[in-house]
Amino acid sequence: MCSIIGYKGKQSAAPILVDSLKRMEYRGYDSVGVATFNNGGLFVKKGTGKVLEVNKNLSIDSMSGLIGIGHTRWATHGGVTDKNAHPHSACKNNIAVVHNGIIENYKELKQELTAAGHVFASETDSEVIAHLLEVHSDKGIKGSLIETCKRLKGTYAFVVVFQDGTIAGVRYEEPLIIGVANDGYFVSSDVLGLTLGAACPGFV
Ligand code: GLU
Repeated sequence: MCSIIGYKGKQSAAPILVDSLKRMEYRGYDSVGVATFNNGGLFVKKGTGKVLEVNKNLSIDSMSGLIGIGHTRWATHGGVTDKNAHPHSACKNNIAVVHNGIIENYKELKQELTAAGHVFASETDSEVIAHLLEVHSDKGIKGSLIETCKRLKGTYAFVVVFQDGTIAGVRYEEPLIIGVANDGYFVSSDVLGLTLGAACPGFV
């Protein structure tokens, strides 16, 4: 289990997300990733290594958009590779998911989804969440989250950015908290993700 941060507000999301991920480094991790929503599209940058290193290589903090999610991964299922870093998407590439925890029944879900034509991009247990959300997308955001959770066994906190820029979070036996700042909203797995300094002076 590692770190999740999401931000939606009036400031550029990526620098805030990188700053939060840096402050949650004490939890230990092997990879870093961020997704931002900008001009109707989702953009993902991710890779193995430390927050500052991956940020330097990929210029994560220069990603545009006022909405975004970030993750540091501690691999439990699938090797430490760029592809296995979070966020994950599904076949239509129009959602981004970051997950903490373990989906115990991911093998059977992956088999079922693959038989139905889904193509997986990673070896992680987490990616099944993105594909299940896609399967249930006709039920709306809340409906797709509820139907997806009905299929999951294990412990999880996950946060999703949907194709309309909505950020939604779900938790089951893993921490996830909401923060309200003067000019935006946060969701994080750790209170340190919300303790903002220069990046967001309005937050208390
Ligand atoms: N089980 C997931 C993975 O291996 C999430 C690990 C975590 O909590 O960082 O990608």
